[in-house]
Amino acid sequence: MEMDCIFCQIVAGELSGEIIYQDEEVIAFRDINPQAPIHLLIIPKRHIPSLIHLSEAEAQLMGHMVNIANQLAKREGISESGYRLVVNCGKEGGQVVPHLHLHLLGGRKLSDTLG
Ligand code: 5GP
Ligand code: ZN
Repeated sequence: MEMDCIFCQIVAGELSGEIIYQDEEVIAFRDINPQAPIHLLIIPKRHIPSLIHLSEAEAQLMGHMVNIANQLAKREGISESGYRLVVNCGKEGGQVVPHLHLHLLGGRKLSDTLG
């Protein structure tokens, strides 16, 4: 755990993040500043700063996070209407929080362009 990492603090239960899913490897919670009616973040419990820090051996972790996102999309009722998964990596990729996270967005028609 990185003491000054806000997402590590949510993993540790130190911030009042509304954890809506958890297993041995990941947790999911609602984004504090939602960009869509459904905006969840799926993150590894282990501190990985960004996608570029994910080793080949850890590729299954992203697969697991996508599986969880699909399950949560069903649970949130947006699996039929559609949703978007986003990972921002680095400064120009729009990453603000330096702990790997997968955005799950849905519940409205999202823009046809990707920034
Ligand atoms: P990024 O731009 O790094 O891909 O996304 C970071 C996301 O984390 C943003 O959408 C932001 O609203 C969300 N976020 C930042 N701090 C907190 C927090 O303390 N709690 C929750 N639930 N979300 C946060
Ligand atoms: Zn962290």
